[in-house]
Amino acid sequence: MRGIREHELNGIIEVNRKACKGCDSCKTFCPTSAITGKYGATHQINSEKCIFCGQCLVNCPFGAPRDTVDSLDNVISRLNDNRATVIAIIAPAVRVAIAEEFGLEPGTLVTEKLYGALKQAGFKVFDNNFSADQTIMEEGSELIAKIRHYMLGESSEHHLGALPQFTSCCPAWIRNVELNYPELIPNLSSAKSPLMMAGAVAKTYGASQIWAVQPETLYVVGVMPCTAKKFEVSRPEFTSAADYWQKQGGTEHYPDVDTVLTTRDLARLFRKLNIDFNKVSEFTDNNNPFAQYSGAGTIFGNTGGVMEAALRTAYFVITGQELAPLELTPIRGLKGIKEATLPLKDVKTGKDITLNIAVVHGIKENLKPIVDQVIAGKSPYHFIEVMNCPGGCINGGGQPINPMGTSWIDKYKAMLPWS
Ligand code: SF4
Ligand code: SF4
Ligand code: SF4
Repeated sequence: MRGIREHELNGIIEVNRKACKGCDSCKTFCPTSAITGKYGATHQINSEKCIFCGQCLVNCPFGAPRDTVDSLDNVISRLNDNRATVIAIIAPAVRVAIAEEFGLEPGTLVTEKLYGALKQAGFKVFDNNFSADQTIMEEGSELIAKIRHYMLGESSEHHLGALPQFTSCCPAWIRNVELNYPELIPNLSSAKSPLMMAGAVAKTYGASQIWAVQPETLYVVGVMPCTAKKFEVSRPEFTSAADYWQKQGGTEHYPDVDTVLTTRDLARLFRKLNIDFNKVSEFTDNNNPFAQYSGAGTIFGNTGGVMEAALRTAYFVITGQELAPLELTPIRGLKGIKEATLPLKDVKTGKDITLNIAVVHGIKENLKPIVDQVIAGKSPYHFIEVMNCPGGCINGGGQPINPMGTSWIDKYKAMLPWS
């Protein structure tokens, strides 16, 4: 079993024994059976099995599980340090959730207000939608290379991972693979998540070309809907920027992303800094190259979004044509496992191929049949998106908590025609 390595965070989610009523609800949300304890007795989390997704935390009716990684004071002290440049990398799912913390209707989109509040707090913004676009280029190019090699018979000079290709941007899913399905590691896309790409770009190109500061003076904060991202940024392999600068003569060693604040943490930060979110002036960061993004980057926060964005790129490169929006309708919506078939004509050779794709979210119920097929060598799919949380990151473990622990997603499920 994969152990916790030096510098990696562990025990990110713990149960507060005083608050736990032993009701057992959390077990029904835990994708890895990491929660132990008899009905009526206080429960515990086995951190060797936990993938830090926070689903127990957002669904416990008594608020007993808690996020133990609190970097609020560190972030505030960096914001007050005029030698530091503090960057907020904001995920797509935060801008549709933060308003709920300040009394607005859940789902209200407040991008400009969020930019305004972050500016007032002293952050510079790096929009994670920008790096979601980068991820699409990387992950889409990797898929195209595999399609050309395995399905169209082209030779390849590079080592290519296996098909089906799994998406790699959800750190809870990655930890689940490492702990429970290590034979699937060759199937994971080699693309880093948007957050980790953003951190590396911020501390290389951003430091030298945009903010004109020494990279070691940047303090990069991921603002995420996700508790598992706190684990991801602590992984020791994510030091690309420091590695790059060391090749240019630099001597410092630092992570690409210094810390993560969840949507809930960010709301606490605004309150602590006396920023009244509802009265903040909206701000549009037109001159910031890291605030530019396509519609593809925006849909990353939803189940099916990563798949749809990457497929659009792959379809265009292979066929030379844009994919019609309706062709991907089956992978939208909140059904647990969604499938689609996409015929492609290779513009170079004229060969016809058919791409089979699947989208899985809410892995507690929906993952097993899909991975069992892949492990048995019987999967009909070529590309599979996996997001740990039901609905994707919009319903992540770092998002605002509804009273009584009932997820808002259930009422929307009933309303959507394609669910
Ligand atoms: S759902 Fe909450 S109160 Fe119930 S057993 Fe789990 S942690 Fe304890
Ligand atoms: S954080 Fe996720 S994996 Fe860990 S105990 Fe809670 S639900 Fe289970
Ligand atoms: S689905 Fe999104 S919020 Fe949930 S664990 Fe994965 S990355 Fe985090």
